Amino acid sequence: MNVDRYLKELSGSSQRIPTEQSFHHFYLNFDEFKRPIDEIARRSQSMLESIGVTTHAWNTGVDFPSDIDDAYEWVVDMNDELLEWFDESVSEVRKAREEDEEFEEVELENGFGLVRVKKEGGGVGKKKVEAAGTTETTKPKVSFHLATVRKPQDVYDIVVNNTNVPFEHIWLEKSEDDQRFIHPLEKHSYLEFVDKNLEGLVPMKPPAMECTPFKLVEDVKGLKELAAKLRAADEFAVDLEHNQYRSFQGLTCLMQISTRTEDFIVDTLKLRVHVGPYLREVFKDPTKKKVLHGADRDIVWLQRDFGIYVCNMFDTGQASRVLKLERFSLQYLLLHLCGVTANKEYQNADWRQRPLPDVMIRYGREDTHYLLYIYDQLRIKLFALSKESESSENPLVEVYKRSYDVCMQLYEKELLTEDSYLHIYGLLGAGFNAQQLAVVSGLNEWRDILARSEDESTGFILPNKVLLEIAKQMPVTISGLRRLTSSKLPYVDHNLDVIVNIVRHAIQNAAPFEEAALRLKETYAAKMKEARLKAAQEASVVDAAPVEDGVEASHLLDFEHTPEEESTVIDNSTCVNISETLPFSYDLKEDCSQHEDMNGQVKIKSSCLTLELPQVVGGPIDAIADALSGDSASRNRLNPNEKVKEEIKLDRIRMSVKLEPVSAAVSADTVMIDSSIDSGCMTQNNLLGSE
Ligand code: AMP
Ligand code: ZN
Ligand code: MN
Repeated sequence: MNVDRYLKELSGSSQRIPTEQSFHHFYLNFDEFKRPIDEIARRSQSMLESIGVTTHAWNTGVDFPSDIDDAYEWVVDMNDELLEWFDESVSEVRKAREEDEEFEEVELENGFGLVRVKKEGGGVGKKKVEAAGTTETTKPKVSFHLATVRKPQDVYDIVVNNTNVPFEHIWLEKSEDDQRFIHPLEKHSYLEFVDKNLEGLVPMKPPAMECTPFKLVEDVKGLKELAAKLRAADEFAVDLEHNQYRSFQGLTCLMQISTRTEDFIVDTLKLRVHVGPYLREVFKDPTKKKVLHGADRDIVWLQRDFGIYVCNMFDTGQASRVLKLERFSLQYLLLHLCGVTANKEYQNADWRQRPLPDVMIRYGREDTHYLLYIYDQLRIKLFALSKESESSENPLVEVYKRSYDVCMQLYEKELLTEDSYLHIYGLLGAGFNAQQLAVVSGLNEWRDILARSEDESTGFILPNKVLLEIAKQMPVTISGLRRLTSSKLPYVDHNLDVIVNIVRHAIQNAAPFEEAALRLKETYAAKMKEARLKAAQEASVVDAAPVEDGVEASHLLDFEHTPEEESTVIDNSTCVNISETLPFSYDLKEDCSQHEDMNGQVKIKSSCLTLELPQVVGGPIDAIADALSGDSASRNRLNPNEKVKEEIKLDRIRMSVKLEPVSAAVSADTVMIDSSIDSGCMTQNNLLGSE
């Protein structure tokens, strides 16, 4: 059917229909006109009546009205509904077809004929080859998220403080004015850590992994033994594996440690509260060298999860930079300094799984096994460089200075402010109007609150991409929303009504976002111009740009993350100062009754969710420049007054919101806002442990 042609004809012929006044004139005076009109009216009426008779089949719950105006409304609504159903079915078919296309027919070498296998790069998990009478498993593609893993927070009773208040470094002393925490390194100069005499240093090659004693530390006894060994060592290498997808702030899953003679892997999920008490001292000891590669994140994860603060660190990543090596990745160092081809496949694996597969243990060991040997070689190179260069700049000293700065960073919890939404990846280029921005803001707050209470990442609750798509389309019906989301988003699935309400509310309360929309567009234009200019300049200066820890240097031009990064990397520094207005609250009016659903879960009626959007425009506007300037230091600040307000706000939310459980595949537990934000009875991120 040529729909376009019919539509064109229809709209063309509509021009020929007389307008209201002349219509009456023609109808009353010309029988040739009146007859077909009457015929059309009769047929329409009969059609409407037959539609009315069949309404039960559509299960609309609304009977076909007898009043002609109501009937008209009814038909329009029904039309909308039908079109939505149609759209939904089309998307379903399309999805099914795409899934189908992820498979390909492959000729098996063993002569079993054609089989369906998942195409390279499509989907996750093991590739299963299905053929008659045989099941073969090809090389697994590593998944960053295994939905079947039980949340370690539940298995090991890991309770963290996700409330919207700054992280307290309870293991640090505070300054006299109580305004800041004092890092133990402040008492030291990085010059203390610089090797005094490297003349004649011979790199100490480690024994092969197979010949190296290895211990998987899974109990307190093992941890105690490890601590004793580290107290006897002058230097050790450290690395961490981490998961950021299934918790709000991130969870350290493993700690790999290598001395000159042994490898250890600590199960930091199981031993979480014990790690600090046993290892804090050796990490802080300025006479022991800690060697890490690209330690920026490791340093703050150690602080956050174990209250460990590192003194005297040598960062082999920083050394690679100072030496201006071709690449700064560990993979590169392993290959060129140790002759080892590292398998980076597991870097982004789901490190929460237990028991850990042997390949992942091996991968984890590889990350630290060679690191002291690399450290030896890099020091020798740096020392040689300092001798041959005449300048006063000593490259070895420079590495220690940089490593010192890395250690001095303090972990900051991500805080929700009324301007947080401005940092969402992809927003800047989205070209949204005020209504769409209001939706972004509303959804951002909804997912933030949920993520904190459920101890999930905001990306797991509602990925940026989906959030922006909802804001772009502004669906005001549940079916419209369902079309934009996938059933793989359990929290979205269980809160479709809430989300639709947020959208509706935002549409009607978008005025305060007018100016933000304007400024965002201006900022985007300016940024684009700046980026183009920079690209042009760099193109003329650099031919072969160096590469950043495995990231192509050209990416540095991007002022936002790459989409691949975005899906898994949770930015810790996406906040700006909170202003006086509390932008969001759950209304506790009496008419907002809670009701229990069939499973006995308490669910808030969606109408209870009300938003108080920012009253004043100044906040969001001023924040844009800040927000986009990349000045993370100015971001996570809340003054004490605001801190109290935030606590009150979260208290109110806690009292008013109970959440539905998510799908069994993801989490079998009952999901309620309570323990995880009950700051009264818990320790700061569980750090007090058993000391
Ligand atoms: P690494 O320092 O390479 O051992 O990485 C430590 C942790 O950082 C990993 O366990 C991951 O959680 C995370 N990570 C490293 N590389 C990536 C990546 N390319 N994408 C996402 N997460 C990563
Ligand atoms: Zn690392
Ligand atoms: Mn690692």
